[in-house]
Amino acid sequence: MSDDSRGVTITPQDDRYAGLVEGYNHRFTGRPEVIRRARTTDEAVAAVQDAVDTGRRIAVRSGGHCFEDFTASPDIQVLLDLSALCAVSYDDAMGAFVVGGGTRLDRLYQELHDGWGVTVPAGTCFEVGVGGHICGGGYGHLSRRDGLVVDHLYAVEVVTVDETGRARAIVATREPDDPHHDLWWAHTGGGGGSFGVVTRFWLRSPGPAPATPEQALPRAPRRIRRADVTWSWDDLNEESFTALLRNYTDWYEKNSAPDSPGRHIWSNLIVLHRSAGAFFMNTVVDEDVPGAAELMAEHLAAITAGTGARPVSVEEQVVSWMDTWMPSYSWPSDPRGRYKNKAGYLRRGFTDHQLAAVHRHLTDPGYDNPMACLVLTGFGGQVNAVAPDATAVPQRDAVIKASYSAGAWTAPDEDELHIAWVRRFYQDVYAETGGVPRPDDVNDGSYISYPDVDLADPAWNTSDTGWQFLYFKDNYPRLQRVKKRYDPRDVFRHALSVELPPS
Ligand SMILES: Cc1cc2nc3c(=O)[nH]c(=O)nc-3n(C[C@H](O)[C@H](O)[C@H](O)COP(=O)(O)OP(=O)(O)OC[C@H]3O[C@@H](n4cnc5c(N)ncnc54)[C@H](O)[C@@H]3O)c2cc1C
Repeated sequence: MSDDSRGVTITPQDDRYAGLVEGYNHRFTGRPEVIRRARTTDEAVAAVQDAVDTGRRIAVRSGGHCFEDFTASPDIQVLLDLSALCAVSYDDAMGAFVVGGGTRLDRLYQELHDGWGVTVPAGTCFEVGVGGHICGGGYGHLSRRDGLVVDHLYAVEVVTVDETGRARAIVATREPDDPHHDLWWAHTGGGGGSFGVVTRFWLRSPGPAPATPEQALPRAPRRIRRADVTWSWDDLNEESFTALLRNYTDWYEKNSAPDSPGRHIWSNLIVLHRSAGAFFMNTVVDEDVPGAAELMAEHLAAITAGTGARPVSVEEQVVSWMDTWMPSYSWPSDPRGRYKNKAGYLRRGFTDHQLAAVHRHLTDPGYDNPMACLVLTGFGGQVNAVAPDATAVPQRDAVIKASYSAGAWTAPDEDELHIAWVRRFYQDVYAETGGVPRPDDVNDGSYISYPDVDLADPAWNTSDTGWQFLYFKDNYPRLQRVKKRYDPRDVFRHALSVELPPS
């Protein structure tokens, strides 16, 4: 180990190396020659400069929760670890909260909550890092109330490399007259690892500078009403299962306008494979919203109405948001877990063909994995109050995010089995649109923070629509222009990074 202007240097012989080259998805283990642990922006600049000067490929890691190998592909020679950049404070000059580029979500939530009683509508997994999460758009259970995290992103400090190979840190804000405004914009959903290294994020809701920190971000809920509903697969046939899914997507179609009272409701329908025996729906509403109990009751009644399928249990309680619900809903890493995830936005409910495919694969008798699932997450509401080109996230009229997961398994020799199942499932659901969620009146592409390299593979994407459009739609050419201006040497790249425009 050594410690110089490039941060702490960790080599393969160091005991800490193994923990830093493994992330959430244990299908991928990086093999960098060196890890640089930057503790300041200057150290991040020096580490990037050194990688460029020595001609070595560099990648940056924040929370290590990427589904694909973007920080662990075998050709990465230098891994820049930002986990030491994890301070959260209020910056009076910016009128915004400043957050280190490697901060984990648990720390972010705790600091914002304990210090100022505010929060951001980010994800529920505590171990996720802001570095990848915010750059990808970031959403969570408060997004229907408050929008995406990037709707509250005021500025970024980014280490970029110019055409001469010089690394430097640039601060870019959402102020329209900021000369680096486009660099800010690219970080509102263009994905991590494409433009540079974000060493600091500033968070502040839209509008003029707030008078106090407490006005800079949405109020954190105090108490939350939660309902956890469980169904047994034994009580459902294809008809009742299909009716349940239809009810769920219908409810979101009807209750996802930006100002709908239903925006206070958020639920996750986690349909585990039949081998699990049962599956769940978790719903939450801020207990301090007027009529919270009635909103919850209406949601639960609408989902179960007319299905003939009685849940085996419905548990409802009011608990502290920060101390009880948030930790209980985090997804702790499985120390050996291997995953393959796929995703798609829904503008409205699945077609009949899609529903039949969902049922077929989740009840596939030839596959046995109680962890495999389809998760349908409530979306829309205030997310849809923002124009498709105002940030880099173009999906602004979807009502549900669907994610298809074959995780988690632990044996490497089972990779093929599980990956093949989720590929078949996804290909079948999207059979009418070339095996991918090509935007139409039902589907709306996919989410770059749930990256899936199959979308770039003609064997799995047989549509006429490239991965670039599936993730970024009409925002892609602007992202490419930002790429050309701020990363003309393509220093920051991975399998689904924004490409340089054709010259
Ligand atoms: C269990 C789990 C739950 C999740 N839940 C949600 C959720 O509720 N909502 C949601 O929106 N997403 C969710 N995600 C997706 C998550 O937002 C992405 O996986 C995100 O990219 C993870 O960020 P990270 O920093 O932890 O990952 P990393 O693996 O460190 O990085 C991911 C990508 O971002 C790049 N990157 C990392 N840090 C920086 C930086 N500082 N500057 C520039 N680029 C950087 C990396 O190079 C890489 O390309 C979840 C993921 C997991 C595994």
